[in-house]
Amino acid sequence: MEPLTEQEIRAAFVNCTKGEAKRLSVPRDLADRPWDDLDYLGWRDPQAPDRAYLVTEWRDGRPRAVALRSSAPAFGQTRRSMCTMCLTTHSGGVSLMVAPKAGKAGQQGNSVGAYICSDLACSLYVRGKRDAGIGARLHETITLEEKIRRTVANVAAFVAKVSTA
Ligand SMILES: [Zn+2]
Repeated sequence: MEPLTEQEIRAAFVNCTKGEAKRLSVPRDLADRPWDDLDYLGWRDPQAPDRAYLVTEWRDGRPRAVALRSSAPAFGQTRRSMCTMCLTTHSGGVSLMVAPKAGKAGQQGNSVGAYICSDLACSLYVRGKRDAGIGARLHETITLEEKIRRTVANVAAFVAKVSTA
């Protein structure tokens, strides 16, 4: 994806107030992120580990960002689960991330949940740039391009669900 600035990211949030978007923590090392290898930029709030954020390039070419609440993996959890974005399986490395919906639906308490890599590094797992251990990636005959396209489509579907009332 194209590199983004802090200002662009803050302006891209669809499911929190302008005030929240202004205050939430955006990574300071944006310039050093591996943008070429990212299908979305995801991060956790270092001050509030149950908060996570992801921003992706939307169909109109503009960024769209989503605020998430994540349950910490249960202590000692060893059950393997699969990320629904990149289809990587981790032991204890996948979290249920819940996003309040945009607008009125969100104010009424509606939310969308998905199991996502706890470190929000799906793009790197797909490309084999981060290792989740033996058996983490399904052996598939499809190409890397196709895996990337699938991840992008999964993330876009999730962001679309959050964005629609
Ligand atoms: Zn993932």
